[in-house]
Order: sequence, then C-alpha cells, then structure tokens
Amino acid sequence: MQFRDLHRQYQAMKAEIDDALLKTASSGAFVLGDAVAELEQQLADYVGVKHCVTCASGTDALRMALMVLNIGPGDAVFVPDFTFFATAEAVAMVGATPIFVDVNGDDFNIDVDDLSEKIRYTEEHTDLHLAAVIAVDLFGQPANYIDLEPLCRGHNLYLIEDGAQGFGSAIGGTKACSFGDISTTSFFPAKPLGCYGDGGALFTDNDDWAALLRSLRVHGKGADKYDNVRIGLNSRLDTIQASVLQVKLKHFDDELKAVNDIAQRYNDLLRGKVTAPIVPPAVTSSFAQYTIQSDNRDAIQARLKKADIPSMIYYSRTVSQQTAFAHLGQQPCPVAEQLTHTVLSMPMHPYLTDQEIEKVTETIIAAV
Ligand SMILES: *Cc1c(COP(=O)(O)O)cnc(C)c1O
Repeated sequence: MQFRDLHRQYQAMKAEIDDALLKTASSGAFVLGDAVAELEQQLADYVGVKHCVTCASGTDALRMALMVLNIGPGDAVFVPDFTFFATAEAVAMVGATPIFVDVNGDDFNIDVDDLSEKIRYTEEHTDLHLAAVIAVDLFGQPANYIDLEPLCRGHNLYLIEDGAQGFGSAIGGTKACSFGDISTTSFFPAKPLGCYGDGGALFTDNDDWAALLRSLRVHGKGADKYDNVRIGLNSRLDTIQASVLQVKLKHFDDELKAVNDIAQRYNDLLRGKVTAPIVPPAVTSSFAQYTIQSDNRDAIQARLKKADIPSMIYYSRTVSQQTAFAHLGQQPCPVAEQLTHTVLSMPMHPYLTDQEIEKVTETIIAAV
C-alpha cells in the first residue's frame, strides 16, 4: 500500500500523459511556452480569479507574493505555527519576521482569536510594522476566511492564502486560491494537483500585481528579457510540467470526489475510535492529508508499520520549534505543540481501494 499512489494515477491516465510528454519533447519549447500560458488560463478559470501566474515551486510562489506586497525587513507577517516549514521560511527569506500564531485543535488551521491576540501583542511589544497574515489551507481544508478577511481589513494587513495543500477545496461555491489579496499553490507531486517535479502558482485579481509577477519570475524583466528593471528570480514553470498538469486537471474533479468519498468511508469506520478530521457541511476539502488524532498515536503508528501500512506524522514539531527559528523566542502556541504528539496521517489518494481502507481502519482499531 502506498501513502499517496502516484503510480496508480499514472496508470489511469497513461495514454494521455505519455502523449503530453512526447509532444513537449518534440516541440523544442521547454521553459514557459504555449502549454504554460494555456494552463494559467485554465487554472484561473477553475479557481475563479482573473490571473494565474505559474512559477517554479510553492515556496517561490510565497516568496513572490511577499515581494509583490513589498514586504521585507522590519515587517511582521503572522503565520500558523502548525504548517510546513516553507510558509514561514518565505517570510524570513525576504527579511521579514514571522510571528507564530496558534491553530484550532479540530481543523488544524490558524486560530482567529489567537491571531487577534498576537496582533495586539506585536503592536504593544515590538517596533515591527504589521504587514500581512499568511493563512494555510492545512491538509486540504480552507482556513476560516469568513472571519480572517474582516479581521485583516480592520488592521490594514494583507491576507495571503497559502493554498499549497488546498487547491480544489472550497467554502460554499468559492474555491481555494481565491481568498484574501493573493494566493499561492504548489504542484509538488504529492500535493492535490501535482506535476512530475517542482512547480507552483500565484492567483490574484490585481492586474498590476500579475504583471509584476511575470517580471519577477524572469529576473525582473522589463520590455524584453534582457532589459532588467528590477531584481527578480529565475522561477518559471517547465513546459513539460504544464503539459502534465493540463492532463491531470481534466481528471481533477473526479479525483476530488474520490478522496471525499474515501474520507467519508474512513470516518464511518473509525467513528468513536479516534478523532477523525471534521469538515463543516459548507466546506469541501481537497484531502491533501487524512489526519486523525489519538493519545495512542505512537502505538497506532507502530501497529500500522507492522502491517506494512505507511503513515506519516505531519508535523512532528511546530514551525517555531524548528532549529532555524529557535532564536526568535516567541509566545508559545500550546495547541500546535499538543498536536505534534497526537496527529497521524493515513494513506490517502483517489485510487485507494475499499480493501485497503478496511485494512487501515481494522489495524487502527486493533491498536486502540
Ligand atoms: C508544500 C508546501 C509548500 C511549499 O511548496 P513547494 O512546492 O514544495 O515549494 C508551502 N506551504 C505548504 C503549506 C506546503 O504544504
């Protein structure tokens, strides 16, 4: 059993993907190109925003979002303490200071009350300029944008959506990667919509920001490639990745339905045994991870391992506990810290069989 079975996905789409790969090889265009421009339009339409600008990774997308918003030294950017390192890494990369905010114990996303508290604390106790909030759609579930958007507006903070794990999810009819002022995603192979290497994208309705991003990703180009008007990056999507993503996007809604059905099946079988992820009725998750909580986490993981079932601890330490951020010495985030002891992510992908689901749940139940 695979944790995320990309081989089965390839088998299901093999003819189309092989065709796309060969077409790219014979086209002679390898960086950006027509496939990238087409994909950007398709992704913008899918999400329901005006512009999609692709780039080389989800980490670069975050960094470019911060660059467009002119965030740098002296700026505070609020980030959840329970997320993948890159969310806070991008903040430090542009010279700004990440301020760690606690998360909710049920949906793992940024806690709006603690955000209010950390805004107040940072205003009173530091000289930092309060610049932005990065909310993460952790494990595929959108953050609480209904409350985040007015809070950020009230404090003049930009709201950035890190949708690396949330592409395809939605609140009501509104798709992830359309929330806040600017959104980012990742096409790393194991993300909900993944390519065959690294890739990322930004989404915005702002024409000027989109133009700036297109300049930043090619060394700050001006009128042409060799007219450099600002300091940028080399951060472009490869044509071959765009061609693979175009194929996968056609099947994406079927895959989303499959992971939601599988999550429901997991929930039904695990009810009362462990804490299953809770998705409110108005919300659709993209289930980048199916993450349970249990006080017997380590025993469950050992039992799964014995049965040859892969499982992962996302995350075994909070971001503020990472060595690279140890010097910041900020206010504690007790919920995030507690979660590092109880969370366990199960095999989850659209091609998981009923038999595999039952094997996983029976093994968990035997362990508790
Ligand atoms: C994966 C991920 C990123 C970084 O994406 P890469 O494409 O790997 O650079 C950023 N934020 C979150 C929440 C992620 O899960």
